[in-house]
Amino acid sequence: MLPASITALISALGKLPGVGPRSAERIALHLVQTDPAAAKQLAETILLARDKIRFCDVCGSLTEQSPCSICTDTRRDASLVCVVERAVDILSIEKSGAYRGKFHVLGGKISPLDGVEPEDLRIAELEKRLKHEPIKEVVIALGTDVEGDATSYYLAKRLARQGLKISRIAYGLPAGSGLEFADELTLSRALEGRREMN
Ligand SMILES: [Zn+2]
Repeated sequence: MLPASITALISALGKLPGVGPRSAERIALHLVQTDPAAAKQLAETILLARDKIRFCDVCGSLTEQSPCSICTDTRRDASLVCVVERAVDILSIEKSGAYRGKFHVLGGKISPLDGVEPEDLRIAELEKRLKHEPIKEVVIALGTDVEGDATSYYLAKRLARQGLKISRIAYGLPAGSGLEFADELTLSRALEGRREMN
């Protein structure tokens, strides 16, 4: 039987994504035996990051300053906006190096079963951007699962307007998966091979 404070730490760590019960236990046992100053520094780093990070008011990415460095980067192609599900998807696309436009984070996918309706996503914010920014193409980069498909078609229909190209990346992406599972080459090919939806 472990002391209650260690059990509580294991339980807290086990709630983190990608940390299974065995890893949680290993990390917890490491932390309680580490130098107190190091443990304190880790705790403070977590609090500081949580305190500083916010969502960009324009694109919805994670940033310390809004608008974020991508939104304010004038070297980027302002005529292109890539629509992703989550802020971390921006990292995957940035790593591929195949895209130099702007981004827009939806914050999820339409999923009536999970109670996620279009108004729960950042679609109105995207429409506002279409009005005020010189966007000529919306590149939809959502996963290839059922919700990704449904959301992509919904967006293509709702955003359709004169002079706006709407395309979707799909080529080479494994069926039923999200961007985080695609390697950089696959993702850069998927971007290059995007197909027009309208
Ligand atoms: Zn931004």
